Amino acid sequence: MLKIDSHTHIIPKKLPNWSEKFGYGDFIYLQHHRKGFAKMMRGNQFFREIKENSWNAELRIREYEKFNTQVQVVCTIPVMFSYWARPLDCLELSKFLNDHIADLVAKYPRHYLGLGTLPMQDSELAIQELERCREIGLQGVQIGSNINDLNLNEERFFPVFEACERLGMAVLVHPWNMMGEKQMQRYWLPWLVSMPAETSRAICSMIFGGIFERLPGLRVNFAHAGGSFLPTLGRIQHGFDCRPDLVAIDNNVSPKTYLKKFWVDSITHDPLMLEYVLKLVGSKHITLGTDYPFPLGDLEVGKFIEEMNLDAGTVSDIFHGAALAWLNIPKERFA
Ligand SMILES: [Zn+2]
Repeated sequence: MLKIDSHTHIIPKKLPNWSEKFGYGDFIYLQHHRKGFAKMMRGNQFFREIKENSWNAELRIREYEKFNTQVQVVCTIPVMFSYWARPLDCLELSKFLNDHIADLVAKYPRHYLGLGTLPMQDSELAIQELERCREIGLQGVQIGSNINDLNLNEERFFPVFEACERLGMAVLVHPWNMMGEKQMQRYWLPWLVSMPAETSRAICSMIFGGIFERLPGLRVNFAHAGGSFLPTLGRIQHGFDCRPDLVAIDNNVSPKTYLKKFWVDSITHDPLMLEYVLKLVGSKHITLGTDYPFPLGDLEVGKFIEEMNLDAGTVSDIFHGAALAWLNIPKERFA
């Protein structure tokens, strides 16, 4: 069966030294300190070590073959967003990353689909690069769960979402710049606690801010099965019902109305939770995802889904149908 991994990250093997070029800022650069590994450095600070499968396209294809998975939807690593930088510098950086992904998709069209990154700190430049992303063959863009701490319902971002709808570009919302990060460094809590909260923050902001209401054709996928949004939906709905004076101030449509209006990926690491997500949003809105090649990902590419005894239609929706619909691609492309 065709398997499309809707959530994976990739980075070029060589990055320009942007801090030197632009003369400020802790832009990410890579130190290839030993064979097959590189250190991602933020200024002089070590961020994380990555392996060759973070940049080597052919190695990735071989690793995926072990899990009978043909297609990877690739996007950059969120720390590369650089929304904090000067807009034109972020545009240049975004173009570099987007061209790299476009080249990959052109070279291996049966194995890769691409999502670009945008200088979201400047909506005009973001739309300009969005249009270019479409021209160079990307299916959509990945954006952060907040933009320099601003929520996605902020009016300044609306033209970008509007352009995504108009151009038919899909959107992946990925947690980053995690709330509370500085206050809970121990135990990897930003990844375990803040990331799911970030994604719920993004979904709630977009629902309550009326983004889905105003743009019914916008196709958005939320990482990590929507983070803590679905597990806390009862509370969110109850809040909407009991305190509309606080919650329903910009959009008076019930949050549950939007359950089948966006996609989430399958990264739950838990069959019980995936069953719950299935009940809420249905198989047509759950895309197989892994977060490959990072350790917190589902690195067996949906093996736990294969073991859940789901009916064939449900599995084929999750393994490719939902992703094809989200990205608006015919299945024939991968025949
Ligand atoms: Zn990810």
